[in-house]
Order: sequence, then structure tokens, then C-alpha cells
Amino acid sequence: MSIADNIQRVHERIAKACARSGHDPSEVTLVAVTKQQPVAAMLAAVAAGLQQLGENRVEEAARKIPTVDAAASQPVTWHMVGHIQSRKAKQVAPLFDLVHSVDSLRLAQRLSRLAQARERDLPVLLEINISGEASKYGFAGYNWHKDETVRQQLWQAVSAIRALPRLELRGLMTMAPFGAEERVIRRVFADMSALRDSLDASLPELSMGMTDDYPIAIEEGATMIRVGRAIFGERNG
Ligand SMILES: *Cc1c(COP(=O)(O)O)cnc(C)c1O
Repeated sequence: MSIADNIQRVHERIAKACARSGHDPSEVTLVAVTKQQPVAAMLAAVAAGLQQLGENRVEEAARKIPTVDAAASQPVTWHMVGHIQSRKAKQVAPLFDLVHSVDSLRLAQRLSRLAQARERDLPVLLEINISGEASKYGFAGYNWHKDETVRQQLWQAVSAIRALPRLELRGLMTMAPFGAEERVIRRVFADMSALRDSLDASLPELSMGMTDDYPIAIEEGATMIRVGRAIFGERNG
């Protein structure tokens, strides 16, 4: 299967998930996650019509983005989806159009200062750890509807981050537990949708769903899905 064929299949599954759940496919943005993929594969995805590409490591992105931008047949919107170490934050604002993975107030403050220095707005999403796994980054969101402390902390983080100059808070991002049963994954995504709706802020974007679970994420209200392997095949390592 070629990259173009794979993209076609992903679009078909998006359409089916939308039809099952009463969503419009135009509400769902497909972000092709190109980590560990060579520039040639990225250009093939752009040639097949994708304009939204995502990377998870700053160094790798800094290496590939200028090359892809120079050779791409149409402009690319770049998404940062991985954890950002403090000392790499400086490189993020000039490279990316949307950061999905703001996982601490400190990082948000740093990105805000860097965006101010560039005199450019930086759109961001807050990464929420809804499943409560210790291995995951993000603001604590496990059991938020029952746990008053978790809820208070989330509310405070959202209002503090909304107040930061030049940072434009557009929504929330999460990852489901790897290899979990469908019912568990669905609950994580449904919790995330409910959290977004309960926050007293206009947060249009909900970034959730990867190769193994994007149809469930769409059924539960995802507006952005981040898909790698279903488009490019298995990664090595
Ligand atoms: C790698 C990655 C993806 C894509 O994962 P696939 O399983 O290849 O679809 C999505 N989101 C994040 C944050 C990732 O690191």
C-alpha cells in the first residue's frame, strides 16, 4: 500500500466514524505524525493532499521542517505533539504553528515569553493526563469530575495560561492508555470531551486519537486526530 492509499483509507474510516456518531468530517483535522519518517515520506503525504504534519522531537523537526517547507507543493501547517524539554522551548515557537503538548505552567510561561519576544501569537493546547498513568505527561486530569482538588488545579491552570500574553489557548490534548480495552479508551476520550465542555472557556479543539484508536476518539468528539503508523507504516524502534 502506498502512502496515498493509506491516507485514502484513513479518510474513509474518518467518514464512517463521523457517520456513526453524527459528526461532520469537516470538523475533524487529520494531523499526519511524521516522527522517524524521512523527508521523502513527508513530501509524499503532502503530495497526497495532507497539509497538517506533526512531529514529537524538536531536534528532528528542526532538521526536517525547513527541507519539507522548501520542497512541498503546498504550505504545511506544523504541529508539535511531543514533550518539550525546557532547554528546547526556544526552538519551538519559530518552527511550529500549534503546540499540542503544553504540559506545565512553567512551559506555558516560557513559551509565552518567547512568543512575546517574537511579537507573534502562539496557538497551544493543554495536554491532560486523563488516564492517570505515571508514564504520561500532562496536567493531572484523572477522575476530575469526582476529585475536587484535581478540578480546582485544572481550572487554575487554564485561567493562568489564558492570561499569558501571546499564548492563544485553543483546546485540550490527551493520549489514551496503550493497548487498553475499547471500553477503557472510550471512557478516557468521553471524560476529556466532558472536561472541555465543563471548563468556563471557549476551547474549540480536542486533540485525541492515534492509529489504534482514532475512530473511537472521533465518536467521542475529537476535532484533531494524530495519526502516524496508519499512514506511514510501522516505525523502526
Ligand atoms: C507517535 C505519536 C502519535 C501517532 O502515533 P501512531 O500510533 O503512529 O498513530 C500521536 N500522538 C503523539 C503524541 C505521538 O507521539
